[in-house]
Amino acid sequence: MENKDKELRCFKPHTKEFKIDIQNLNIIIFNDVTDELQQISSLEEKASTDALTGLFNKGKFHEVLDKEIALAESTKTPLSLVFLDIDHFKVVNDTYGHDVGDYILQTLATILDSTVRQGDFLARWGGKEFVITLQATTAEQATILAEKIRKNIEAYEFKSAGKQTVSLGVTEYIYKESEEEFIKRVDTALYAAKESGRNKTVIK
Ligand code: GH3
Ligand code: MG
Repeated sequence: MENKDKELRCFKPHTKEFKIDIQNLNIIIFNDVTDELQQISSLEEKASTDALTGLFNKGKFHEVLDKEIALAESTKTPLSLVFLDIDHFKVVNDTYGHDVGDYILQTLATILDSTVRQGDFLARWGGKEFVITLQATTAEQATILAEKIRKNIEAYEFKSAGKQTVSLGVTEYIYKESEEEFIKRVDTALYAAKESGRNKTVIK
């Protein structure tokens, strides 16, 4: 609805009853709730965003994964996860400082964001870990994306810190398994990538 200044606003109606003599009258009052709605939506956005990278956070990731698992179950389409962790990041922080570490995380987030496809869901898991859900994608197809990411990052020259590498785990949802089992398996794949020398993608 428009207000008197022709701005589009949201109004919440409520009725008020009152008596004049023996007549009961109902009036409808429209309260402008646009500002409250905007505040709620900006709070919701803040609550689901990682402040450093601007990506979605872990809380939002779980919310999205729940829905994607339900969709994969009902449509019997594959669903894959890619888990990514920066290699030897502690050394980077210790050598170049925390600000350079933060800059690497932000730049990495931008590279990831431009590499994933529409429909993929990218989030910062926490620390130096990132996670991607890939709808209608098998583990083999997800591995192609994971390898593209790994190579893009390997080729990138970060300011001050130079070359960096990442390790990745990939797995595909197994029908009827729990979200925890699904995540545990991709974490195991990532761990295997680290154990086998880093700068690798492991599929489980
Ligand atoms: P690995 O290859 O085995 O994963 O080695 P690593 O050194 O990367 O792993 P480790 O778990 O020992 O160190 C994690 C480091 O990540 C330490 C911590 O300070 C850093 N880190 C986590 N979150 C942030 C952040 O938001 N900003 C910065 N600058 N550093 C972070
Ligand atoms: Mg580690």
